[in-house]
This record gives sequence, C-alpha cells and structure tokens, in this order.
Amino acid sequence: MSSPKLKSSATSSQPEKIIVRRKKKATVRSVYSEAEREEMFRRFSVQRPEPKGELEHSNPFTLVVAVALSAQATDAGVNKATRALFKVADTPQKMLDLGEEKVRDYIKTIGLYRNKAKNVIALSRMLVDVFGGVVPQTRDELVMLPGVGRKTANVVLSMAFGQATMAVDTHIFRIANRIKLAPGKTPDEVEERLMKVVPKHYLYHAHHWLILHGRYTCKARRAECEHCVIADLCRSPEKSCDIPAPLVELPPQVIGEAVE
Ligand code: SF4
Repeated sequence: MSSPKLKSSATSSQPEKIIVRRKKKATVRSVYSEAEREEMFRRFSVQRPEPKGELEHSNPFTLVVAVALSAQATDAGVNKATRALFKVADTPQKMLDLGEEKVRDYIKTIGLYRNKAKNVIALSRMLVDVFGGVVPQTRDELVMLPGVGRKTANVVLSMAFGQATMAVDTHIFRIANRIKLAPGKTPDEVEERLMKVVPKHYLYHAHHWLILHGRYTCKARRAECEHCVIADLCRSPEKSCDIPAPLVELPPQVIGEAVE
C-alpha cells in the first residue's frame, strides 16, 4: 500500500524540513518536590485553618486605605490610627469631606504620614470621580489609584474580592528566598514563582500563611526553627533545628504581638 501523499511546498530535490516545536515546559524553580510542597502547605493549613489579614477594615474602601497606609509600618500601628479615622470616614466621599489636613492628624503616628495623607485624599477623589465611589475589582484598575501598587492591589483582590493572589511583602520575600521555596531577586519574580509552586488548592490562603509564618516563626532577625512545623522539610542553610514542632491548630491570632 502506498503511503498517503503529504501536502508540501518542498520540491522533490529538497528534503522537507520538519520543524517540531516542543511546548516549553514552565520551569518551576523550587528545591522542593511537589509532594514536599503539598505537605508544607497541608501543615500550614492545620495550624491556621482560616488565616486572616491583620489590618482592620469594614469594607473594600477602608481595606484599600489601610493597606496603602501599611507600607513601612506595622499592622498594629496602622490599626491604632485607622480605628478613629474609619469611624468618621469609611467611604471615599466622607474621606474627601474630611480633607487632607484632618486625615494627616489621624494618621500622624504612622511613618511617611504626610505623603500617605495626600495619597488617601487623591485615591478617594479618583474613586469618586472615575469609579463612582466603588472600589474596582481588577488589578489594572486598582493600580491606577494613587499610592496603590501591585502588592496593595493583590491584598485587596484577595481579602475584599476572594481572588487567589500572592501579595509579596517583606516576610514572603524573605521566606521564599531563605528556604528556597520560590527564590527571586524582586517581589514580582517571587510572586510569579510562588503562583506556580504553591499547590493550587492552597493558593487562596497561601499568602496569609506565609506572612504569619514569617511574622511569628521564620522571623527576620532569628528564625525560630524550634517552633517551626516544617523544620524537617526546610532546606534553608540558616535552619537550626530538624525536628518539626507539634502540628496543632494555633489559638486565634493576637494582633500586635509579633516581633518584626
Ligand atoms: S526551619 Fe527555620 S528557617 Fe526553615 S522555615 Fe522553619 S523557621 Fe524558617
């Protein structure tokens, strides 16, 4: 039986070049196997089944403001200032009515407060003028707001709108590199890699688990490996203990007790 003729533009004297394009496999840069990553996040999920962010807010708008104020400040410090502020201004219009000077007074205990007060007023104005007073639900729109970067947008998308995002803060950046879970030179690089290496079904809570792990256990100055539930899995050259801490659910978070 003769083989079927293939359509070809090549002449009989020119051998037909067959170019096979292999789909590039997305590289997952992590020293942990899939099974190890699964186990790591399973343990975090047992420790903190419902992890929460620690910034106080009552609606998407107050969350945007709180996250924007939290740059280079502790959550406890931001909460102290915003408790009184949000009582009088929990919508963009009310914030505009309050005015920059009064906003400045409310937040003067927070670092960079002058600039942050300016941004709070400017983002409130944009929300009123461009978005009808409603916080938008896409990253592209959120980052248009003054003082709102990719990290803030990711926190808002996750906490206010239930989207699985990875807001890379100082703790996540440190852990991803220290334990080589998703090493990267910039927060964006770490974000991209974590989105690939964290098991999909754990992705929604993963950023809170990592933040809390960094804030309370894998701390910047000294990692408390003796209290760490993933000490046996961890491949950090800095780790000081191989025995994992007992895997139990932790008591509810007490905000402000962390040593940053
Ligand atoms: S073992 Fe130590 S270095 Fe590794 S994740 Fe735990 S606290 Fe961090």
